[in-house]
Amino acid sequence: MALIVQKYGGTSVGTPERIKAVAERVIRWVQRGHDVVVVVSAMSGETNRMVGLINAIDPAGAAREKDVILATGEQVTIGLLSMALQSKGQDARSYTGGQVKILTDEVHTKARIRHIDDGPMRADLAQGRVVIVAGFQGVDAASNITTLGRGGSDTTAVALAVALKADECQIYTDVDGVYTTDPRVEPQARHMPLLSLEEMLEMASQGSKVLQIRAVEFAYKYDMPLRVLSSFDDDSATPKSTLVTREEDVMEEVMVRGIAFNRDEAQLTISGVPDQPGIAYQILGPVSDANIEVDMIIQNVGRDGLTDFTFTVHRNDLAQASLLLEQTAEKLDAARCKFDDQIAKVSIVGAGMRSHAGVASKMFKVLADEGINIRLVSTSEIKVSVVVDEKYLELAVRVLHEAFGLAAG
Ligand code: ADP
Ligand code: ASP
Ligand code: MG
Repeated sequence: MALIVQKYGGTSVGTPERIKAVAERVIRWVQRGHDVVVVVSAMSGETNRMVGLINAIDPAGAAREKDVILATGEQVTIGLLSMALQSKGQDARSYTGGQVKILTDEVHTKARIRHIDDGPMRADLAQGRVVIVAGFQGVDAASNITTLGRGGSDTTAVALAVALKADECQIYTDVDGVYTTDPRVEPQARHMPLLSLEEMLEMASQGSKVLQIRAVEFAYKYDMPLRVLSSFDDDSATPKSTLVTREEDVMEEVMVRGIAFNRDEAQLTISGVPDQPGIAYQILGPVSDANIEVDMIIQNVGRDGLTDFTFTVHRNDLAQASLLLEQTAEKLDAARCKFDDQIAKVSIVGAGMRSHAGVASKMFKVLADEGINIRLVSTSEIKVSVVVDEKYLELAVRVLHEAFGLAAG
């Protein structure tokens, strides 16, 4: 007998029929002799609907109140799933994040989990109940409701699995695993049965939203294996899936494992700034003081005592960051600022890059052959990322997918 934490995403619980199907799936796992804790997201579209309502009242409104609203979606699904289980004769009990309790810091809309009380859940399991927990939410020390950032139910599931020392954390979604790239963009994408947590971490941080980055960070830190699988396939005891686990257990040493991408960034450039010590700090200091995260940074080689400086931020932060940069430009007497949100970042990821030279240059050649201009580059031990014009994103993903031999067949 094992203890399993299962998470069902928005589409998996998108209708009453889907919720009943999830209940049947959960019951089959119980019948196979396992203790099951289930984490659910809001029904698909619900969180977006609430974001719309919030924006219709006041987009700049208090984050505390936003969380009060956003957390309601998951409260509906835990109740519905619990009722569905009970109506099929399976004892079950639902809990909000605050009831469990999932204690977080007080950073509303992107809170981090600090502690989980596993006592009540264990007591329920000991009585043969299925425990159902609302994803994406917790409470801070003062009992304010907090949420964990979009896609945060994944993180709830991993954190519960760690707290309960579960044997496995199963992430049920609308794809039957992690693919070499998003199968919605590249139909040739290949299913990966096994992937290292480290590679998944790079994939997620470079934009593969199949798992929330914080969930992968949590799993990596506590060495919790994750299984990604579909809630839409026929349920078998050994379903098609991707196991994301420790690197030692992932034998195949391929050079490039997958391709991640995102359209979430915007690029800012300030040109004609004095090429002198402290300039990077003068430019980026005000940006980080405003809690804006900077991703890529490039300072050009100076000429005639002047230089250019380019960096990227999340598109949502562009308006604020560009104001700050213009203020800096005025102070520095800089020639001008330029902003562009029509960019996209494409990354190749693979632990095998450590032992293969020339991966980056191959990537650059493949893109050059298609006439795709590279604006920015950043690398780590196991990834190379480039920023290109957004209009070339799909093409870049497809040609790289082909060139690195990732296509199916
Ligand atoms: P859920 O609502 O279940 O959390 P998400 O929409 O958050 O589901 O995540 C699943 C989606 O992630 C898939 O439908 C797919 O389009 C997307 N995705 C992006 N990159 C990948 C990848 N490399 N492999 C599989 N799916 C991916
Ligand atoms: N319902 C939340 C969202 O849409 C959390 C989640 O689905 O993981 O972002
Ligand atoms: Mg998700």
